[in-house]
Amino acid sequence: METFIEDRVPYSRRIFCNRNLRMDRIQFIGFDMDYTLARYTEQIEHLQAEMVLDRMVTKYGYPREILEATYDPGFAIRGLAVDLPNGNVFKMDRHRYVGRIWHGSGPLDRELREQIYTNRKITPSDPRFVMVDTLFSLPEISLYCQLLAYFDGLEETASRPTYEKLWVDLREAMDSLHRDDSLKEVIRSRLADFVIRDDELGETLHRFRSAGKKLFLLTNSEPEYTEAVMSFLFDGIDDSYPSWRDYFEFVLTSGRKPAFFQSDEPFCAVDNPIAEVKTLKRGHLYTGGSFLELARLTGMMGEDVIYVGDHIYGDILRSKIHTHWRTAMVVQEMERELEQIQNCRQELDELAGLEERRFQLNLELAARALDGDRAKKVRDEVKAITHEIAAAERVNADSFNPYWGMLFRDRTELSAFGKQVENYACVYTSRVSNFRLYSPQWYFRSPRDRMAHELRF
Ligand code: IMP
Ligand code: MG
Repeated sequence: METFIEDRVPYSRRIFCNRNLRMDRIQFIGFDMDYTLARYTEQIEHLQAEMVLDRMVTKYGYPREILEATYDPGFAIRGLAVDLPNGNVFKMDRHRYVGRIWHGSGPLDRELREQIYTNRKITPSDPRFVMVDTLFSLPEISLYCQLLAYFDGLEETASRPTYEKLWVDLREAMDSLHRDDSLKEVIRSRLADFVIRDDELGETLHRFRSAGKKLFLLTNSEPEYTEAVMSFLFDGIDDSYPSWRDYFEFVLTSGRKPAFFQSDEPFCAVDNPIAEVKTLKRGHLYTGGSFLELARLTGMMGEDVIYVGDHIYGDILRSKIHTHWRTAMVVQEMERELEQIQNCRQELDELAGLEERRFQLNLELAARALDGDRAKKVRDEVKAITHEIAAAERVNADSFNPYWGMLFRDRTELSAFGKQVENYACVYTSRVSNFRLYSPQWYFRSPRDRMAHELRF
C-alpha cells in the first residue's frame, strides 16, 4: 500500500473519520450533486433572498417595505432551529439544550430567555420547532429575523402576521421557487455566477475509476438542471471524458431523497418514460426509483457502497438508518472554519490551559479539607479564571461567526449539528476533491473506536 503521511494534507482539506472505512472494500461510490459535487457561490443566496422577497410581496400580499431588507450572508449557519410560536432562532448543544438565541434584530432578552427555555430540552419531532440543516435554507433564516424585526416594529394590527405565519409563508415561497423552476432558470442562464468550477474534481473521479470503483450520481435535482450543472462542472476538463456522463455508470435524477431510501419505486428513463426499466444503462438519465430497486438492478450489497452528500437528513441520516451504505458528508463551510482554527491555535491552547487550571483548583476544593484562608484564595481564583474563560470563549467563538460561534461547537460542548455529523457520517470533509489527496484504497481510521471505560484499566 502506498505510504501516506496525513500531515501533508492541509488541515482544511483533510478527511475526518468517525467510523473506520476501508476504501478497498468499496465498489460503488454515489454522489449527490447540489452542494456536494456542485459548490455554489454566495451569489445564489442573494438571488434566493431577492426572489423570495419579491414573491412574498406579489403572491402573499406582504407590504412592499419588506423589499428593503438586505440579505446578510454571514448571519445564518447550519444546525440552527426556529421556535415558531415565539419567533426565536437558536443554536443547541449536543444535549439539545438551547445556547445562543436571536429574536428579530438582536439577542433575545435575558428574562424572556429564562422564562421560555430554562431547563427545556428541544425534541426534534416537536412541531413547534423547525430545524435548519441545508445550505439552501440559510437565506430563509436571515430574512425571517429581518422581517420579524420589521413587523415587531409595527403596531399590532390584523394584518401583522404571527411569527408562525411569517415562517410558513417564507418557507412556502422559497419552496415554490425551487419547485416551479424560476430559481433554477436564472441559475442555468448564468451558471458561472452561481456554480464554482473545481478543477480537481475531474481528476478525483478519474482516480476512483482507475482504482476500479463504479461511480453513480443520485440527485434530487431534475434531469435538465442536472445536465446543465454537470456539463458546466465537468465538460472539457479531460479529453478522455468527452461528456460528464462518461464518469458515471448510472445517473439518477429527481431522486426524492430521503423517500428514495425507504420506498421500492421503479426507475423511469428520461428518454423513454413509458418503458419498464430493466437495466440502468451508461450515458442515460433516470428519474424516480428507490434504494431497493437500485440494489436489485445493480447487485449492490450495501457495505460496498459509499454515498457522498451534503444534507445531514436527506443524504446522510436517512441512508445510514435505512441502508448499510457508508456515508461521507461534505461540509463546505468547514474549510473556512478549519483555517480559522489554525489562525487562532494559540488562543485555543491558552483557553485549554485556563480550563485545566480551573479543573485542578476545583479538584483541590472538592478533594481536600482546606483551611479557611486557602479555601477563600482558591475560590477567588476559580471565580477570576471563570470570568477570563467566558470572555476568551466569547472572543474566540465570535471570530468564527459573531452571531453563533463555531459550527461544530456550542461553548464547551459539541453543537447539535456537530453531534449529528458525528453520529451519522462515517467520514466528513469540506469538498469532494479532497479525496484526490488520499489513495482511492485508503483506510480511514477513527481515532475513537473505544468507549471511555476501555481507555484505562
Ligand atoms: P441534491 O442536493 O443534488 O439532491 O439536490 C437538491 C435539490 O433540492 C435541488 O434541486 C434544490 O433545488 C432542491 N431544493 C432545495 N431546497 C428545496 C425546497 O425547499 N423545496 C424544494 N426543493 C428544494
Ligand atoms: Mg445536496
